[in-house]
Amino acid sequence: MPGRTTILRIALPLSLREPLDYLPPEGADLREMRPGIRVEVPLAKRSCTGLLSALTEHSALPASRLRPAIRLIDRQPLLGPSLLRLLHWGSRYYQHPVGEAFFTALPPLLRRGRPLPASEGPPADANTVQTEPRPQLTREQRQATDAILRGANKPEVYLLEGVTGSGKTEVYLKAIEKTVRDGKQALLLLPEIGLVPQHIQQIERRLAMPMALMHSQRTDRERLLAWLAARAGRAPIVVGTRSAIWTPLLRPGLVVIDEEHDRSYKQQERFRYSARDVAVMRAKIEGIPLILGSATPSLESLRNAGRGRYKHLRLPARVGAARLPQMRLLDVRRHPMQGAISAPLEEAIRQQLGQGLQVLLFLNRRGYSPALLCHQCGRQESCARCDANLTYHRIPRELRCHHCGRRLPKPNRCPDCGGSYLELGHGTQRIEATLARLFPDARIARIDRDRTRRKGTLEALLQEIRSGQTNIMVGTQMIAKGHHLERVTLVGIVDADRGLYSQDFRAAEQMAQQILQVGGRAGRGAHPGTVLIQTHHPEHPWLNTLLREGYPGFARLALRERKAASLPPYRRMVLLQAEAADRERAGRFLRQACAHLHRQLAGNGRQQDMEIWGPFPAPMARRAGRHRQQLVLQSSKAERLREILARGLPELERLRQKHKCRWFIDVDPMGILQ
Ligand code: ADP
Ligand code: ZN
Repeated sequence: MPGRTTILRIALPLSLREPLDYLPPEGADLREMRPGIRVEVPLAKRSCTGLLSALTEHSALPASRLRPAIRLIDRQPLLGPSLLRLLHWGSRYYQHPVGEAFFTALPPLLRRGRPLPASEGPPADANTVQTEPRPQLTREQRQATDAILRGANKPEVYLLEGVTGSGKTEVYLKAIEKTVRDGKQALLLLPEIGLVPQHIQQIERRLAMPMALMHSQRTDRERLLAWLAARAGRAPIVVGTRSAIWTPLLRPGLVVIDEEHDRSYKQQERFRYSARDVAVMRAKIEGIPLILGSATPSLESLRNAGRGRYKHLRLPARVGAARLPQMRLLDVRRHPMQGAISAPLEEAIRQQLGQGLQVLLFLNRRGYSPALLCHQCGRQESCARCDANLTYHRIPRELRCHHCGRRLPKPNRCPDCGGSYLELGHGTQRIEATLARLFPDARIARIDRDRTRRKGTLEALLQEIRSGQTNIMVGTQMIAKGHHLERVTLVGIVDADRGLYSQDFRAAEQMAQQILQVGGRAGRGAHPGTVLIQTHHPEHPWLNTLLREGYPGFARLALRERKAASLPPYRRMVLLQAEAADRERAGRFLRQACAHLHRQLAGNGRQQDMEIWGPFPAPMARRAGRHRQQLVLQSSKAERLREILARGLPELERLRQKHKCRWFIDVDPMGILQ
């Protein structure tokens, strides 16, 4: 028997499921080999930067086949033990290659072998300056705050369900302030970059404490500095979007996730983690409280609260004199329409404008019209690479595929027969044009991804809205959440029906959240607000329950439906999606993968509590030239799904190579269909 050797388990940023084993570099000091440092290692004929994930004495390979690492890059770990544990959990739970998972926690500049900059910098100032008087908390705010403060230092999850305008931010600020005063750090996550300025201004005005900002619009250098300040404990407050959940904190004390229901917390590519669910695990590992705030909590969180896993705190009313807006279904059947705007909505807009108030119209569809049809021969303009229509954009004038990004000039006449086109349906550009015709004196701002592509445009548009120069806003979900716009009194939901008949199992939940979030922009100031919801299905139970019983009643109904259909959150779901240029290949691969999983289950007598459905084609069966198929796995326990996949992966990977497909695993997917 050879003597005991120390073996380094190195996570490399490659699609390897497990770390690779190496011997220590020649002459390296054992004491310096601490998990969390970067190590340069040989890989085939190159060298590669990896992260030391663990030390071991056993390798699946004989010591004679292990190569020595080239050098240790860092003298001290970049990531501490608790973050390493979190990343290990994340890579296992989401079935993602460990190295890629680890490297998402590093700022881009440290992903290669660059040395860690000396981490000096301005020390945190704990003499906090009070720059703005804090408002007197309402009774509900005080109760929520007290409950949270009592639980400091405990890994408790609080679901703060507060209606729009109920002052959830004030509760976050109190909890953050207490955390920092106790010498610890607070991490605040927001769903969108667009909401960051509003929040940091508020924190600055109120708490005047140094903050580190972590989001993708910052330069690599800024992100590195913010990351260093967080890691060294110099930034008491860290504010960021999804990926900021992986920020190392020297003295973690609190995590807050605002709008916890928001889909943007789920990464939709490569490492498909949910920042909210990672936060729950982080709070547990680090032993700290987590606040999940929303006016419209996800059904997952509501169920967890219902089962006593989270503490449910409620803010049922708006602060001060502000009242929740009146919500009304507007049955558009048989009403004259100007474009997508019914006569009663037009009249309501006219009234508001007459009083100098602002109007917000919501439609989650960019462009001018989502379909062009030749009136003579029936040809519909569709994408050559996707099973989808091309959207007609007027500004600039072109046809665009919203799925693969393809852009084409718009023909004036049908290329087949020379006929003229009918423009079907409405996008934000078309609503903007209709409004300009109906209200020629009004100042209209369109707020969508096309309009705000350039940096600073969104801020400028919001500024014009706040100053009252804008009369009508037309926007997509970009404008729907979080923003506090005092003069908006009327919100019009142009089309509530799209969500009603979607095949996505989360469609109802998302529709309700969207209506309440957009509607929640109305009446936040001195004037009461109204929300008009245009629909052709005024009798639909989802809409009626939402209006009659509010979100809590709607959520009860939606949960009952999910339970009856054995869907999340009652069953855990994993999606296997495969795609290939060839029509048959992805289906063949998934059929064999499915057969293998079934054999594996039968082999250990564990067929109960596990369903495998499919494979079936995605509703948009072809996207960007690839044919897409999917397989759905469900069980009541996430652990069972993890187990069966982890055991099946080597064979699935072999099958995938045989069939030459791309594939990915999506654990707790946002929807079956995309
Ligand atoms: P939410 O995030 O719950 O939608 P906000 O936190 O944006 O609500 O609060 C809505 C408005 O009420 C903000 O202008 C905020 O400054 C104000 N506000 C919050 N709490 C109080 C309070 N206790 N007294 C007075 N105003 C408050
Ligand atoms: Zn396309």
